[in-house]
Amino acid sequence: MHVIAVLNQKGGSGKTTIATHLATALMLAGHDVLLVDSDPQGSARDWAAVREDQPVPVVGIDRPTIGRDLKNLARKEFVVIDGAPQAADLAASAIKAADFVLIPAQPSPYDIWATADLVELVKQRIEITDGKMQAAFVVSRAIKGTRIGSEVTNALNEYELPVLESRVTQRVIYPTTAATGTTVFDQDPDGPASTEINALMNELKEKLI
Ligand code: ADP
Ligand code: MG
Repeated sequence: MHVIAVLNQKGGSGKTTIATHLATALMLAGHDVLLVDSDPQGSARDWAAVREDQPVPVVGIDRPTIGRDLKNLARKEFVVIDGAPQAADLAASAIKAADFVLIPAQPSPYDIWATADLVELVKQRIEITDGKMQAAFVVSRAIKGTRIGSEVTNALNEYELPVLESRVTQRVIYPTTAATGTTVFDQDPDGPASTEINALMNELKEKLI
């Protein structure tokens, strides 16, 4: 079982968008996947509930017992955890359960600095697990056609965590999927958003398998 936790205490960084899309991409690639909604607000559960024939299984675990609860569920090939905002105990629980912590961050120094506490927890866990747990930033909501500024690159480099090559771009198609319980794979399967999500999935799979 490979557990990917999408975490960032900051709301609006794209956690739910990435978690729902990553889980769907893995399912479409033929993997057995479970999406765990650890946000008490239940955005991923809301996303799933809109659609009666939602193909991605979603469960809510919004208590700091994620690792233990996962052991009581049927084993899946992949588990994607959609992280909660501002809940240190939930974040710690998700980190402990994770094989990979993915930190989506908008390309602004303020947003990157805001992840300092999370990065500290993640680094401690990497050390405790002797590097078995991995982590990386993914640039989220990047503006198309603009380069990531040197302030952003510098801020990221200070943390000494890898930054994925894949990025998720700011696109109008993403918010439209939220309201309909769908993903970009339903709305534009061969489009650029689907391509970038598949690239993200493949990059993560390479690191995990
Ligand atoms: P979080 O779960 O971190 O709070 P969300 O995924 O819910 O973040 O995103 C917050 C808002 O921004 C939502 O309305 C979502 O549709 C929108 N959003 C997220 N990622 C993108 C993107 N890549 N392009 C456009 N809008 C996005
Ligand atoms: Mg969310």
